[in-house]
This record gives sequence, C-alpha cells and structure tokens, in this order.
Amino acid sequence: MSATTETGAANRAPTPATNPAVVTRFAPSPTGYLHIGNARTGMFAWLYARHYGGKALLRIEDTDKARSTSEAIDVIFDGLNWLGLDWDEEPVFQSTRAGRHAEVVEELIARGGAYRCYMTQDELAAARAAAEAERRPFRLNSPWRDADPATAPEGQPFVVRVKAEREGETVIEDLVQGRVTVANAELDDMVLLRSDGTPTYMLAVVVDDHDMGVTHVIRGDDHLNNAFRQLSIIRAMGWAEPVYAHIPLIHGGDGGKLSKRHGALGVDQYRDQLGILPEALFNYLLRLGWGHGDDEIISREQAIEWFDLDGVGKSPARFDTKKLENLNGHYIRSADDSRLADLVAPHLGFEPTVERRDLLRRSMASLKPRAANILELADGAAFLFRTRPLEMDAAAAALLEGDAPALLARLHAALDAVDDWDTEALETAVREVAEAAGVKLGAVAQPLRAALVGRKTSPGIFDVLELLGRDESLGRIADQMA
Ligand code: GLU
Repeated sequence: MSATTETGAANRAPTPATNPAVVTRFAPSPTGYLHIGNARTGMFAWLYARHYGGKALLRIEDTDKARSTSEAIDVIFDGLNWLGLDWDEEPVFQSTRAGRHAEVVEELIARGGAYRCYMTQDELAAARAAAEAERRPFRLNSPWRDADPATAPEGQPFVVRVKAEREGETVIEDLVQGRVTVANAELDDMVLLRSDGTPTYMLAVVVDDHDMGVTHVIRGDDHLNNAFRQLSIIRAMGWAEPVYAHIPLIHGGDGGKLSKRHGALGVDQYRDQLGILPEALFNYLLRLGWGHGDDEIISREQAIEWFDLDGVGKSPARFDTKKLENLNGHYIRSADDSRLADLVAPHLGFEPTVERRDLLRRSMASLKPRAANILELADGAAFLFRTRPLEMDAAAAALLEGDAPALLARLHAALDAVDDWDTEALETAVREVAEAAGVKLGAVAQPLRAALVGRKTSPGIFDVLELLGRDESLGRIADQMA
C-alpha cells in the first residue's frame, strides 16, 4: 500500500522546470503612466514566476507623495490588468511601510552596519569642494562612521548612512548581465534614512524585497549599480541575497534611449490612441529582447511554458512600431467579431443602438483582413453609419463624374429587382449590368462604391451592399444617379 502511494507521489513530482520557491516582484513607481519598458520588465518578472510555478508579486513604490496620486496608481493597475498580468498576493504599498523601514535601520545601527551621520550641509560641501580642487572623485568619508556614538551632538539633525565595505570587491552573478564586479572602494556610505526620518529608495527596496520573500529581483538594468549598494544592506542584516536579473532597456529604432519621440507611450495609449490589442502588445514586448527560435507569434500559454531568463539578450532591444502593427493585424484577424465590435464602438463617436451594434459586428469579417489596429477598423466601419446624402471625398466625387450617374441608374434598377439580398445574387446583378453596358466589372463597381461609401476604398463591394441592406443601398445609389 505504502509503496503504491510513494509511486503515486513520485509520478506527481514537479517537473524539473518547476520551482515553487521562486518569488518575483514588479515594483513600479507611479508616475502617471506605465511606460512600456517598465511594463515589459513587469511581464518578464511575472512570466518567470509563472514558468516556474512560483509567486508573482506587485509592489507600488509610492513614497514620492507628490507624484503618487490615486490616479497615477490606477494607471498602473489598469495597464497591468489589461495586459493580463495578475498577482498572487494583494499589492504592497511601500508608503505604508515607513515604520518597518525605520525599524530595520535601528537594527542595522545596532549591528554596526549603519551609523548616524551628523555632518552638516556646509561640511559636506567643503568635503566636495576639496575633492574637486584635488581633482579626485568625491568619496564621502564621514567622521561619524567610526565615532563613539556617545560623542553624538545632542538634538542635532542627522541622517543614517550604511557602512559600506571599503576593501575588496563585490560580485553579482546576474542572470542576464553575467558576472559583474565592482570594487568596494567605488561604493559610498549612502543615506538610508533622511534627516526628516523618511527612508530612501535604497533602503525601502531592500527591506520590502526581504519581507515579501522575493528570491529573484528582475528589473531594468538602470538599477544594476543600485544592486551593489543594496547588497551592503542585505549583507549587514545577514539576509539571504536574491538572485538578480537586470533586463536591458528598450531603445528606439535609431538606437537612442526610448523616449516619447520613438513612440514610447504609456500602455493605455497603445490601447486608446493606437488601437492595439493586449495580446499583440504582450507578444510584441515578449519578443523584444527575448526569443524562442524564430517564433514570432507566441501565445500567453506558450510564453509561460518557454520563458526563461537565459533567452533574454544583453543588448538593448530596439522598438519597431511596424512590427507591433503587423502583430496587431494578426491578432485582429484572429479575434472574435463581437469582441472587436465592442472595442470599435467607442471610437465611432456615438453610442450604437442594438441593431447598429449588430451591424458593426457583422461588418468585422470583411473589415478585419486589412486593419492594423482598432482605429482603422472604426474608420473602415464608419461608412455604415453615415446619413444620406453621403458627403463624398474628392476621389469618390471624381468617380461619380461622366457616365457614372447613368450607370448608377441602371444598377439601381437591376438591384431593385434582386429578390434575395445576399452577396451571390448581388454579384450576379452587378455583373449583368456591366455586361449589358459593355464595360468591365471595375467600371461599374467603382462608381457604385463611391455612391455607397463616399470614398474610393472599402471592403468588397458585395459585402458593402449586403451590410448596408436593400433600402439604404438603393437610397444611396439613388442620391447619386442621373
Ligand atoms: N520603483 C523602481 C522603478 O520604478 C524599481 C525599483 C526596483 O525594481 O528595484 O524604477
């Protein structure tokens, strides 16, 4: 019996890729928008945890009170939610943890890993000026580092500084950057607690990561230098060191740091202003700096199965709007028509009735093969809802000159006689008019399109007729015929 149970247990043993001990976190600061570079880092941290069957956590670094408005925080939640990133525990708000940060500072002082520094602004400025005069890099050498605390000036303001190692070197085996070494002489006694008693970012990050049980710190490589400084705190506290993975930032197509000029918008702007689908942005950001062979189209499930940090490149990835649009077109073509109609509706400029909403849904099949984004879909569908007589753009007006009004009159008569208003019957009727007039189909279809759509381009003309329906189609033709 027990042998059977053991065999059963062995069968259920985790696969080698599973490591429930993995805990990652995404720690954005609310700035009013969720930069796609940050979103990608958050995705990587999330994917790593999901891949290993561990935990993905979220921490809002809201210590900058001026910037961390509830709107700015909502932008983050909204963007992450839209991308489909979920978290295994309630988000931690860093601002609520100031007491705990201060408590750790006390312990650090007691352990000899930090000290109260009473240097005044003038003393600091003088030390800096001296370094400058001697043309050597400024390294703070506080007299309070090794002073007897009993000599501390009573009631004077102070900051708490970490007692950074000065000898030797610190090595980080970064999962993306490889082995990175820094001479400890480079590290300074950074401030942990400001003179007003508030914790610095350096301290807060370390304490929160520790308390949240974070095993893997996956974040932008702009924080690589910080990792060495943060390790001084971790070591002084005798805490377990996390594994680090510093992800290269995204660069623009011209190689410069990704800025708004390159299309580095907030995640919400990709959704609202560019009409990108979340699965397209997810796929795009995933492929940006991470690869799985030549695979371009990668589903969320495959991403979880395949993602690991060894696939993340060391050099900055380049943002390519064209690729994003191509992927978006792919996902639009495979998206459900009702869902697309829901996404298009808010861009129409009016609240569609149930019937119009249904018309919108039915139009998706003929519109989506050509659309790169939701806005193009909305633009393509707009003709369905225009009111008669249609306003013609210049190209359409040109198509309605010459023989066109007479041809339209013949089309009107032929279409009026069609019993079943379906694409097959409509095509037969239009072809017969072209034949009788001795012209090619295109010569009839072009003015017909202009009359029905008000433009030179549209989905297939028979789809247009079917979608508009008998009355509206005949009415629009009548408006333009001789
Ligand atoms: N809040 C920091 C940022 O948004 C991230 C800190 C970290 O990941 O350690 O850049």
